[in-house]
Amino acid sequence: MKTNNKFVGAHVSASGGVFNAVANAEAIGAKAFALFTKNQRQWIAKALDTKTIDRFKSMLASSGILPKHILPHDSYLINLGHPEVEKLDKSRNAFVDELRRCELLGLDRLNFHPGSHLVKVAKKDKENREVMDPIEDVCLDRIAESINMALDQTQGVSAVLENTAGQGSNLGWRFEHLAHIIDKVEDKSRIGVCIDTCHMFTAGYDIRTEETYKQTWNEFEKIVGFKYLMGMHINDSKPPLGSHVDRHHSLGKGEIGLDAFRFIMNDARMDDIPLILETIDETIWKEEIELLYSFVD
Ligand SMILES: [Zn+2]
Ligand SMILES: [Zn+2]
Repeated sequence: MKTNNKFVGAHVSASGGVFNAVANAEAIGAKAFALFTKNQRQWIAKALDTKTIDRFKSMLASSGILPKHILPHDSYLINLGHPEVEKLDKSRNAFVDELRRCELLGLDRLNFHPGSHLVKVAKKDKENREVMDPIEDVCLDRIAESINMALDQTQGVSAVLENTAGQGSNLGWRFEHLAHIIDKVEDKSRIGVCIDTCHMFTAGYDIRTEETYKQTWNEFEKIVGFKYLMGMHINDSKPPLGSHVDRHHSLGKGEIGLDAFRFIMNDARMDDIPLILETIDETIWKEEIELLYSFVD
C-alpha cells in the first residue's frame, strides 16, 4: 500500500476513557485520529487522572501514531465569539480546560469551531452575504481575543480553527474569516486551521474538478496560507455547493464525489497532517481509509 506521507484516520469514540480512542483507531487501520477528550455535550468533565493519562500515552506509543497526527475536537457548547459576557466567560474557561487536557495527554493541537455572533438578521440573499458584515467583524475580533487569552494560560498546544459551512450565524466559512482571526492572534506559532471538505463545499468553495480544486486552494493559499493548515476533515456532502448547510456524507455518496479526495491524496500540501473522516457511516471507515490510500498514485 502506497501512503506517500498521508495520515488518514477518523473521529473515533473515546467512550470509557480517552485511551479507547487509540484502540478504536487501530481497529480501523487508521494512521491518524480525532477524539473528544471529554463529553462534548457537557460543560464540566472529570479531570484526567494520572492513570488515564499514562494508559493513553503508552497505548499511543505502541500504536506508532504520533501526537501531531491526532486532532482532538473541543466541546460543541463552546462559543468563543458569544455576544453575552457571562456565556463568553463560560466558553473561554471551558476552552482553556480543553487545551489543558490536550497538554496533559501530550497532544499539540486542538480543533474548534470559531464561533457564532447569534444575531438574528433577516435572511440575506447570496450577493449580500459576500459583504463583510460589521457584526461579523466584532465577533471575529472577540474570537481572536478569546484565543489570545487561552494561549496565554496554556503551553504547547495550538488552537486549530475549523472552517464552517456558514450555517446560521456561524463564522469561519469564508477564508477571509479565518485570516481575520489569525491576523489578530498574537502568537502565530500556536494558531492553525483545519479545513473540512464538506463545510468548504457547502460554504461555496468547489473542489470537484481539477480546475476548481486548483482555484479554491490557490485562494486558500493567498488568503490564509498552507503554513497554517494543521489538519483536515475528509467528508463528502449531502447538501449542494454553496447551500451553507452542514450535513456530511460517506465518500463518493454525496455531492462532492470521489475526484476531490483523489486530488487531496496526491497533493503534497496535505502531507504529514491528520486527515480525519467524519463521514456518517462509521461501519465503513476502515474501507474508506483503504479507499483513500488506494488513490495514491
Ligand atoms: Zn469537521
Ligand atoms: Zn460538519
